[in-house]
Amino acid sequence: MSEGASKKEEKPRKFQAIRGTRDLLPPDTALWNRVEQTAHEVFGTFGFGEIRPPIFEPTELFARSIGQDTDVVSKEMYTFTDGPSNLPEQPDEFNIGQFFEAVGEDLEKGEIPKTAANERAIQRMKAAFAEFAEESRRLPLGFFQEQHEGDFAKAYNEKMYRAIYLANKISRGEVVSLRPEATASVCRAYIEHGMNSLPQPVKLYYMGPMFRRERPQKGRYRQFYQIGAEVLGGSDAPAIDAEVIEMVMTFFDRLGLQGVQLDINSIGDRNCRPKYVELLRAELLKVKDRLGPDSQRRIETNPLRVLDSKLESEQGIIAKLPRIADHLCEECAAHYAAVKHQLEMRGVIYRENWRLVRGLDYYMRTTFEITAQGLGSQNAVCGGGRYDGLVELLGGPPTKGIGFAIGEDRLILSLQESGKAPTQQGRDVYIAWMGERAHATAIRAAKDLRKAGFSVELPPVEQKFGKALGQADKLGAKYALILGDNEVSEGLWTLKTLADGSQAKFTELDLLEHLRKQETL
Ligand code: ATP
Ligand code: MG
Repeated sequence: MSEGASKKEEKPRKFQAIRGTRDLLPPDTALWNRVEQTAHEVFGTFGFGEIRPPIFEPTELFARSIGQDTDVVSKEMYTFTDGPSNLPEQPDEFNIGQFFEAVGEDLEKGEIPKTAANERAIQRMKAAFAEFAEESRRLPLGFFQEQHEGDFAKAYNEKMYRAIYLANKISRGEVVSLRPEATASVCRAYIEHGMNSLPQPVKLYYMGPMFRRERPQKGRYRQFYQIGAEVLGGSDAPAIDAEVIEMVMTFFDRLGLQGVQLDINSIGDRNCRPKYVELLRAELLKVKDRLGPDSQRRIETNPLRVLDSKLESEQGIIAKLPRIADHLCEECAAHYAAVKHQLEMRGVIYRENWRLVRGLDYYMRTTFEITAQGLGSQNAVCGGGRYDGLVELLGGPPTKGIGFAIGEDRLILSLQESGKAPTQQGRDVYIAWMGERAHATAIRAAKDLRKAGFSVELPPVEQKFGKALGQADKLGAKYALILGDNEVSEGLWTLKTLADGSQAKFTELDLLEHLRKQETL
């Protein structure tokens, strides 16, 4: 078979975005930009500054903050070893020599961690590799053409596998994860840059992609986007909680988000929550037989999460369980009451939801969630809460913290469902030109109109006016500027308003003036 023929049969692979990821395209991206721009503006008016942390961090950072036993850390993170690229992925019988050399170089260059454990591991591998090299020198001629049998083969194989085994003990680099959320990164940055010496509290916001390996469905993706904010500092004054919530609500209001519902709760602190959890566990054990398998398991692992259950058959049982509001310690109860009062002072409407618990370990006291319409069962657009111990847990000074994360994908979906989204990215002016001289004028007109802020479509090749006007219509242009030989020689340009078909002639100067007036109407 000729080379050409074999190439034809081999169908090239069709690439698609990876499951759970997607392309954001125009005109949708115009709405994404509007949402993000509004966030910059609103958060700015509350005195927040933007932070852009990296997209990957040591896995340990997430494990320690979010919690080893949470779904996010135990099974949803994209984790890999950030090792040097010259090392073979898997040392084997063919590349063990190359691996051995590369490891030595990488250790020198600091590309693999220079820990005591690693130096030891490399020493042991070195010794094993030397023995293996010695053994391979003693192999009889023609060994590789024959069956690997006999004493030589046995000793050779043993030494080789021992060297490979030891090579695998070397830690090639840091284990890192794509961030599943950004609060841990913000706290890490707060510590790393000594932000506790800045005027407190430090108010930061971020926006960007997060990664969780969940089952993709409407409003749930593996790469999704969050817009979030954190307040870090020495104070846990209830007014801080209330102002953060007021800020999210202002943002949603500015966007025209429909059916917004704010739920709040307090989940206590280290002082009172453990006692409540034990009480809850004892009560759950009494009704264990009537619960589904998920909730039965959670009685042991995380009884609070039972309250989160959406299972119809469990609702009656859950309604009768003890409520944390009745078991808060004095300080937590006072804090919660003050947060509610502060919300009222700000005119923020809330609903108390005693069943609201959050999935991540670090939350305490104030927790809140905001839902919006048009999202089906994935209707939470924002989750947040207080996390006073987190910075300290990550090795920083004692620090109070509160924050939230908005699911931007869901926010956009909800805005689209309620018709708050542009359906087409229209042009202001489509320039229909014919003739060489007209082309030169059209280029100049486009330049001036764009400079004045109008969106202009300038076709690259000449078209008949009829075809050009059809094109302008398809692109949703508001106006067509018609430039032919007549227009150019007269110095009078024809402007057609596409909505009603009306036409008028303008000089170059008048045209800009006219369009500006139309736009400010
Ligand atoms: P859910 O209960 O919906 O899984 P969560 O408690 O895991 O949410 P958080 O970790 O608090 O969510 O994140 C805050 C917000 O981020 C959520 O309210 C949601 O809007 C959004 N979000 C979380 N996971 C995803 C995802 N996989 N795809 C899209 N948005 C998400
Ligand atoms: Mg989740």
